[in-house]
Amino acid sequence: MEMVNLKQAASQDEPPKIDPANDADAVYMDFMKKHCCYDAMPTSCKLVIFDTTLQVKKAFFALVANGLRAAPLWDNKCQRFVGMLTITDFINILHRYYKSPLVQIYELEEHKIETWRGDSSQNVYLQCCNRCLISITPDASLFDAIYSLLKHKIHRLPVIDPKSGNVLHILTHKRILKFLHIFGAKIPKPGFLQKTVEEVGIGTFKEIATVQETATLYDALSVFVERRVSALPVVDSKGKVVALYSRFDVINLAAQKTYNNLNMTMREAVRRRTCFVEGVMKCYGHETLETIIDRIVRAEVHRLVLVDRDDVVRGIISLSDLLQAMVLTPADIACK
Ligand code: ADP
Ligand code: ADP
Ligand code: AMP
Repeated sequence: MEMVNLKQAASQDEPPKIDPANDADAVYMDFMKKHCCYDAMPTSCKLVIFDTTLQVKKAFFALVANGLRAAPLWDNKCQRFVGMLTITDFINILHRYYKSPLVQIYELEEHKIETWRGDSSQNVYLQCCNRCLISITPDASLFDAIYSLLKHKIHRLPVIDPKSGNVLHILTHKRILKFLHIFGAKIPKPGFLQKTVEEVGIGTFKEIATVQETATLYDALSVFVERRVSALPVVDSKGKVVALYSRFDVINLAAQKTYNNLNMTMREAVRRRTCFVEGVMKCYGHETLETIIDRIVRAEVHRLVLVDRDDVVRGIISLSDLLQAMVLTPADIACK
């Protein structure tokens, strides 16, 4: 099957592939407006909170030890939550202070969370950090949660009880799409689910950030910092995808205490990491949106790599793209 030109499919001159005026296309938007954040929360889950006076290194080790990806930050002086610590922060710290395998990253060893966040010389890194906490209440709709995640370009949205001020859960795109997949199964399926990726043009098809397998891990961190993407397809010299390296994988460096050697190649970094996904989760332009949603939910990954029949990277379809198309576009909201 030949791929049509996805750039053309995604062109802004064309009419929207999901029509805000079409009621049938708005069923997922309605579903998200009718359900609240509380509905999508698990009955119990692990939550770790960091005091901002904690050393950054200890905080990242604590994330690893607890199998978590992020934690809210508590400022004891102000007696309130002031932000989130995520793997992106770990990447920013490594990228900012790394010198060579022979030099210990003093700032990672010594800095407290508040030192890092309060350091105004880190402008380029802190631009992408949201300086105030973005949160939501349990009775807010899932529609509002999706809007907040996409508008602020974040991946962790703490649900805070307005009465007690306690963080109850941290919502993610994955959790929300899974909730829709399970509890929205009985909703009549909108017609656009049967359309192919080529037809709907959902995803990113231009200027895909990738990394060569021969590049260094430091090069990959530079791309994470500069492009602010959540993952990089690792490619060979012909542009074929051979692995997927996501921001999440960087936490392996803390787990294995190998963050002092960012000169290793991506081939080595991929080989060393602990990854529960076999191979690369991919998709093709001729596959339907329904097939893609099914695959991404089952694999529990944040994105699929769109490839042609030679496995050359042609695009990325991430949960952000799917939620934008299924929920926000029908409401005539564009966050991208
Ligand atoms: P990751 O993909 O690594 O989990 P995010 O994309 O969510 O990270 O985070 C990007 C930046 O935004 C990080 O510096 C993080 O500290 C910050 N951040 C993430 N979530 C929130 C939030 N709910 N409120 C404020 N800042 C946040
Ligand atoms: P998060 O849950 O923080 O959003 P990700 O879904 O980005 O994390 O990554 C979780 C794990 O799944 C990582 O080890 C990552 O390499 C892997 N992974 C994510 N997307 C893919 C993909 N398309 N193909 C293969 N592995 C993937
Ligand atoms: P995400 O951060 O994965 O939720 O995605 C936010 C936006 O960035 C989506 O439109 C993705 O398609 C896009 N995106 C994600 N990864 C890449 C990448 N490696 N190159 C280009 N765009 C990307």
